Amino acid sequence: MERTAIIFLGPPGAGKGTQAARLSQELGFKKLSTGDILRDHVARMTPLGQAVGPIMERGDLVPDDLILALIREELSGKVVFDGFPRTQAQAEALDRLLAEAGIRLLGVVLVEVPEEELVRRMLKRAGLEGRPDDNEETIRRRLEVYRTQTAPLVAYYERKGLLRRVDGLGTPEEVYARIRGALGV
Ligand code: AMP
Repeated sequence: MERTAIIFLGPPGAGKGTQAARLSQELGFKKLSTGDILRDHVARMTPLGQAVGPIMERGDLVPDDLILALIREELSGKVVFDGFPRTQAQAEALDRLLAEAGIRLLGVVLVEVPEEELVRRMLKRAGLEGRPDDNEETIRRRLEVYRTQTAPLVAYYERKGLLRRVDGLGTPEEVYARIRGALGV
């Protein structure tokens, strides 16, 4: 079977994690969420977790070399990336990794949600999941980091003809149906 990857791109709070989880499960892909992997390290207080905990609490990005080491370790032939890549350097490194591993990038799903709705969703999640980075100040910082460091990847994947824009408003079921339609899977 063909080796394929799908990327979920979009601002924090857009619902990438939920949608990536469902898609990977139904397609039999591995979900690789850098945020989840990092949070697990923080919870277990590993050396990596201790190094990245304060960075995540501020809402800043973890250095590219640490993220790429995680991805290299976990890369699989059928994979959905959630929250990765987040910088131009990560995107270029991923291109090389996928080429070396003979994995084709099927598409990059951009989940689009207006900013005031993102803030509302993350504050709601703060009450439900208690993530330390879901407070108003860090949320603003994460949105700014997204705008400056991650949003340029939209044009990067657009130029490659891989970008699939999806409206992230509506019920999770509606958004999921749009994603499958946009990817043609
Ligand atoms: P997320 O759960 O995807 O919103 O990620 C939570 C936090 O983990 C981010 O605010 C960053 O501090 C860190 N993080 C997750 N993925 C990456 C990545 N690809 N590059 C750098 N930092 C990341």
